[in-house]
Amino acid sequence: MQGFIENQRQDPSKEDVSKRLHSFDEIYAFFNNRVVARQAERCVQCGDPFCTSLGCPLNNAIPQWLEAIAEKDLQKAFLLSNETSPFPEILGRICPHNRLCEGACTLDDGYGAITIGPIEASITDLAFDAGLRLPFPGVIHDKKVAVVGSGPAGISCAHYLLRAGIGVEMFERADLPGGLLTYGIPGFKLDKKIVKRRFAILRQAGMTLHLNTEIGRDLAFADLLKSYDAVFLGLGATAGKQAGIKNEDHPQVFMAMDFLTNVQRRLYERDWREDYSVVGKRVVVIGGGDTAMDCVRTAMREGAESVTCLYRRDEENMPGSRKEYHNAVEEGVVFMFHIAPDGIDVNKQGQLVGIDVLRTELASPGPDGRRQVTTVEGSEHCIPADIVILALGFDVQAAPFVKDAGISTGRWNELGCDPVTGRTNQPKVYTGGDCQRGADLVVTAAADGRRAALAIMHDLLSGEPE
Ligand SMILES: Cc1cc2nc3c(=O)[nH]c(=O)nc-3n(C[C@H](O)[C@H](O)[C@H](O)COP(=O)(O)OP(=O)(O)OC[C@H]3O[C@@H](n4cnc5c(N)ncnc54)[C@H](O)[C@@H]3O)c2cc1C
Ligand code: SF4
Repeated sequence: MQGFIENQRQDPSKEDVSKRLHSFDEIYAFFNNRVVARQAERCVQCGDPFCTSLGCPLNNAIPQWLEAIAEKDLQKAFLLSNETSPFPEILGRICPHNRLCEGACTLDDGYGAITIGPIEASITDLAFDAGLRLPFPGVIHDKKVAVVGSGPAGISCAHYLLRAGIGVEMFERADLPGGLLTYGIPGFKLDKKIVKRRFAILRQAGMTLHLNTEIGRDLAFADLLKSYDAVFLGLGATAGKQAGIKNEDHPQVFMAMDFLTNVQRRLYERDWREDYSVVGKRVVVIGGGDTAMDCVRTAMREGAESVTCLYRRDEENMPGSRKEYHNAVEEGVVFMFHIAPDGIDVNKQGQLVGIDVLRTELASPGPDGRRQVTTVEGSEHCIPADIVILALGFDVQAAPFVKDAGISTGRWNELGCDPVTGRTNQPKVYTGGDCQRGADLVVTAAADGRRAALAIMHDLLSGEPE
């Protein structure tokens, strides 16, 4: 270990831009056995590893699995990293590492942080390729839990319940499982085969999956409460925020999720809509987060004539992953900072011809600690466009069954719960992920799912004989 002087930080190699733009395949090639060990050897094994305690929302045992893989013990590294995480190969790919574990790494200060994310993804990829399997006991208790929603929060809750031998039935309204891992995050960031493999593991471990089943429509929530010992709600938050500007309901203005889901449905060879095509069009995306980056990079791959991203703050204050912003720049996306939308410009024939914008300035920080944005008087101008995509964040959609069941909700429809256990105010009902904390990250949804699973295990099994 401590090889950080001789060994430089090495990021996984990326597919050439000219090839990338013709494909939705993942752009990174992760590490082989030799490189993963050499990268892990750089860890200095700090006494108080901030990567684990401050950086990682799952408090992954990062130094321990780095040590194991540096010593070429793939099985130990695999089991350790899968102990605290329900899908390390997914999080190693799509966590915003620079803001989390790698941002907290001691070596980030001058030497280059350990490549924690890519090492994490590589360990589990290499282990599965080598035929290693995760230990599940099979369903050994007579308790049964209903998990509503098959996104990261639901997967995580199901994973830890199955690890404890508790039966799980998962209900998903969509035709494929995975939540935003399947129909939101594009394949160039996360290969869909990886999500499919996780569901195969959960099913082998004893989980029953009900697709095309919306709770509150196809099946009453009251029936779940009657038939199961506990219910976990991981409903997500995918109601796109509007900009509140003139003509934003024009048919050439798309909501980010509608656009991304439609492309993904075509790639899955499911029914999809031709009218979301951007081929040969000048596309303008509004927003600066992960969703906006996914939209701009998808539009480039879909054959847009040009793709421009408008963001009201500056590059430094973009909320999305730095890595994905740089990838978008490499792929030819034009970024315009300090620009706020003011209206959609429509000609006499009713066609969208541009977006009216204002220049902005950053003022002093607001209550959330982020610098406020003010618009500059007299700076109005129009940016030509054929298609505008709104990627301005998401709200939790109010689910009537939640209200009917008396589950407490907040101002933004987010489900209320105990922050330590994920228990709601209703007996037997637990929650977590975006529907509870507001649109956030895959890793925080995974942490919430694990938190609820631990509380459910405690509540259901503590009376059982050893
Ligand atoms: C385009 C995009 C890109 C993103 N990129 C990243 C990224 O790179 N890294 C990152 O960490 N995070 C990213 N995120 C955020 C991340 O995807 C979410 O925070 C995460 O998926 C939340 O997980 P969840 O399980 O709470 O919800 P979801 O993933 O939304 O899953 C909820 C599931 O519940 C189902 N459901 C809802 N109601 C019902 C019902 N009544 N009955 C049955 N099923 C129901 C839904 O159909 C859905 O499948 C991105 C988000 C988007 C939109
Ligand atoms: S889960 Fe995310 S934050 Fe935690 S170690 Fe993995 S990449 Fe880092």
